Amino acid sequence: MNTALTAYITLVCTSSVLIIYLCFYVFLKRHKFRNIANWFILYSISITIYCVGSAFGLMSTTLTEMKFWTIIQYIGMPISSPLGLLFIMHYLGINITKRKWIPLILIPFVSFIMVLTNDFHHLHYRVYAFDPELGAPYVHQEIGIWYMIHGMFTFACMFIAFFLLISHWKETAKVYRPQLIALLFGQLVPMLTAFIYLIGLTPPGVDPVPMVLWLTSLFYVWAISSSRLFTIMPIAKDAIFNSINDGVIVLDESNRMIEFNHACKAMFPNINKSMLGDNFVDVWRRISGNPFPYNIEPNIHHELHHTKPGNEERIYQVRSTKMQETNNSNGLLLLFTDITEVKELQEKLEHQAYYDDLTQIYNRRAFFEQCQQRLDETIENEFAFSVILIDIDYFKNVNDTFGHYVGDQLLVHVVNVCNAQLTEDMLFARYGGEEFVLALQGYSKQEAKDLANQIRCEVESSSFLTQAEKISVTLSLGLAEAATGELLYQILNKADKALYAAKQSGRNQVCVL
Ligand code: GH3
Ligand code: MG
Ligand code: MG
Repeated sequence: MNTALTAYITLVCTSSVLIIYLCFYVFLKRHKFRNIANWFILYSISITIYCVGSAFGLMSTTLTEMKFWTIIQYIGMPISSPLGLLFIMHYLGINITKRKWIPLILIPFVSFIMVLTNDFHHLHYRVYAFDPELGAPYVHQEIGIWYMIHGMFTFACMFIAFFLLISHWKETAKVYRPQLIALLFGQLVPMLTAFIYLIGLTPPGVDPVPMVLWLTSLFYVWAISSSRLFTIMPIAKDAIFNSINDGVIVLDESNRMIEFNHACKAMFPNINKSMLGDNFVDVWRRISGNPFPYNIEPNIHHELHHTKPGNEERIYQVRSTKMQETNNSNGLLLLFTDITEVKELQEKLEHQAYYDDLTQIYNRRAFFEQCQQRLDETIENEFAFSVILIDIDYFKNVNDTFGHYVGDQLLVHVVNVCNAQLTEDMLFARYGGEEFVLALQGYSKQEAKDLANQIRCEVESSSFLTQAEKISVTLSLGLAEAATGELLYQILNKADKALYAAKQSGRNQVCVL
């Protein structure tokens, strides 16, 4: 056996041993790995068969032996490239249905049958003999039609796998790129070797591909052990990343967008992968039409109003978190939470807390809060300040005669008539039951009394029509002007006494204290 042949056999055996080791390693740990490990095991079994067949082929001395080992090689070799493709597709998260992968293994099966029965039809090898000059185990072969189909199919699978890996480069975070490189080389090495073999640049008579598969195996060994291929796959990470309901945008240390998740796409439909690598300020301008309103820095916590295409207004809470990557470069994570519904609910609850349900004017709580503020301002600026308590006369009779519903409508009617006499700066609230309160900043006793009488007259002359008849209603009003140093409850007490006096004096009048 010459030295070249010994070298060939050594290389092929090295490839075989490494792949068998890989196969066992992944097989024994398959429970730890994901589904993808199964594809890898199948892929490496096919390569193992190919390499072992090739190694024994190189040791053959008779043509029958050689043909036998070639058939053995063809159990594994034709199927290895589609299995490699399926493995890569799985790795990249490309969904493969049974319908898609079954046709992929059909051609390899035919190739095996063709080689097995080649002596009958010569469709795979037109000529298959030992090289007349070099002798065994160097083969002289002339390829047939099926060999070409099989070759094209094998190349197509390897090329597609390679292309798919390349096309995912940009969207793969830096930390996962070594894995991608290992897989790219894993495809590239046999593909290039097969190519130079086909164009006749390798030593004649021997298939060089099994001789370089040890290199491919080394890439995989490295990827599995050091960059934890299978356990931490970009795809697994993507699944988590994309299952987050919040929009997440990942920026690198120069604020360039390097990733965004599905939720982000739903929030900002204009965002797309072609923007990856662009500065976030530009990206934001393109997706929203406006500049990003905040500084892009760690720990921001803001609200952002965004108009989606179709003029849908949404409110997002934007937060940012500093990110420490394994390679020590600092990036930023921008988190967008849709708080539109929460905000609407909050506004509704706030409204309910401060407004009267029936009349939609301020309630007692809002009155006290705001009136105290106004009184404080008044004291500071030495304005006049008056308070009027308003009570509907004989309201109980309305309820008793026409029912509670009509009573409610009458309350609304009175509020509407009052509102029509008031200006924005006046604080008008429902004080309780059928009583209202009006606080007038900058109004002296006389000015307030004029307004009180105006309101009283308007209500008296207004008509409230029920389905059956017209109801007339009058008001009694008690007015008090704040004296120096008086507290709110003291002013309200005075107004209450004045109201009592108005009731006592026959109702439908204004009393001042
Ligand atoms: P007065 O002239 O002395 O004020 O007599 P009045 O009947 O108006 O006063 P009273 O305090 O005796 O009765 C007030 C009534 O207002 C009793 C209560 O049932 C009714 N009332 C309080 N809140 C509401 C409400 O929200 N809707 C309706 N329909 N009635 C209410
Ligand atoms: Mg009352
Ligand atoms: Mg009353």
